[in-house]
Amino acid sequence: MFTCPVCFYDKMPDAASDYNICPCCGTEFGVDDELMNHAQLRQYWISTGAKWFFNEPPLTWNAWFQLSIAGVPLPYASAVTFGGPTPSPNFVLCGASPREPAISSNPYPDLAEAA
Ligand SMILES: [Zn+2]
Repeated sequence: MFTCPVCFYDKMPDAASDYNICPCCGTEFGVDDELMNHAQLRQYWISTGAKWFFNEPPLTWNAWFQLSIAGVPLPYASAVTFGGPTPSPNFVLCGASPREPAISSNPYPDLAEAA
């Protein structure tokens, strides 16, 4: 087993290299990490909801727990209030969606004022 340097999933079947793909965050090593470093890929994965990539996630998997035990600062209030290591499957699938980042606000404030 290997640990993903992007999302810190610790049960990767293959090493984080040679076009192997993390089943958790979906990073394709040798491709995706040519364009962005691991910290940038991690921020992107978090900003898109830190969703499980390949098929269904393990029943006890939780992205925010995985990140917090790895020492990653969590940017979302919903993540900070996470209460335990064994959430229900519903929590994993539905409850872990953070708020959209602030950068998704209206990029055309002038148009909104005119309307
Ligand atoms: Zn990963």
